[in-house]
Amino acid sequence: MKIVMLGAPGAGKGTQAKMIAEKYGIPHVSTGDIFRANIKNGTDLGKEAKTYMDKGELVPDELTVRILLDRVAQEDCKNGYVLDGFPRTIPQAEVLDTELTKLGEKIDYAINVEVPDENIIKRMSGRRACLSCGATYHIEHVPPKKEGICDKCGSELVLRDDDKEETVKNRLNVYHQQTQPLIDFYNNKKVLKEVDGTVDMKDVFKAITDILG
Ligand SMILES: [Zn+2]
Repeated sequence: MKIVMLGAPGAGKGTQAKMIAEKYGIPHVSTGDIFRANIKNGTDLGKEAKTYMDKGELVPDELTVRILLDRVAQEDCKNGYVLDGFPRTIPQAEVLDTELTKLGEKIDYAINVEVPDENIIKRMSGRRACLSCGATYHIEHVPPKKEGICDKCGSELVLRDDDKEETVKNRLNVYHQQTQPLIDFYNNKKVLKEVDGTVDMKDVFKAITDILG
């Protein structure tokens, strides 16, 4: 079972991808994780990717595709995988499609987790992070015991630049321009499934498992 997760940054598709991976026993392949692993291990690919990420730019398709195809060719992916963060653009989707066709394979499901922009902006701006130990909170959903202070290490909590309204809006704009056409792409291939991402995460997952069986 090969699955592509679609949805705006902050829609919760990463969380759903992890839950799918666990339930169906297939790897959760997140481009973010693969890049971080390569950077941590100091590979050439990691160094190359880092130059873009440091500038807050998207890693070029060619580089992303190379690292992704290498990952899904590994033994643990032979029964399927959940792709999270890839493809992000039509050219990436086309390359993936071409490469899978060569192997006699295809994407079985493209699951779009739908959440309106206003909801995402609200969700993200409530996030708080501890820069000392990495713990994360949400002022409404996962508040710390003492306001503004990390439960785990007592450090001060901050609103990361990544979670600020302006940054979130910019990311959403990029998403709508580049990733939204993927919804049409997978719809044309008759594998698109849409789920309401505004409900509780357990209910989102229920809707997904109803589709996957
Ligand atoms: Zn902390």
